[in-house]
Amino acid sequence: MMADNLFLKIINKTIPAKIAYEDDLCLAFHDINPQAPTHVLIIPKKVIRTHDELTAEDQSLLGHLHLVAIKLAKELGVASGYRLVINCREQAGQTVPHLHLHLLGGRDMTWPPG
Ligand code: 5GP
Repeated sequence: MMADNLFLKIINKTIPAKIAYEDDLCLAFHDINPQAPTHVLIIPKKVIRTHDELTAEDQSLLGHLHLVAIKLAKELGVASGYRLVINCREQAGQTVPHLHLHLLGGRDMTWPPG
């Protein structure tokens, strides 16, 4: 079972997080259990529970999240190589029902992912 949407509480600042970037559309914060030296989660403020809930009206929002990822990769010093991950639904490892891009960097990555 996916947990409650605790990312909404992070957006609302009722749960603290180490925030890396914020604007009207999105929030980026450092993952509490980092899987790489740099591990930031980039989330829309709009509630979208899973990747496959995205619709045509979200196209520019999704593009915005990616541009924020590029900006953060540069700012956090991982622009030489980083990985973006979206886990869609529990079988893929999604544990929080609020769309999030994982931005991972700072170490060599392997393929295939686990
Ligand atoms: P998912 O498994 O859904 O793709 O990713 C959820 C991510 O959220 C995990 O990497 C997990 O470590 C992170 N996470 C879960 N709870 C918290 C929290 O309270 N604060 C922060 N900063 N990250 C969290």
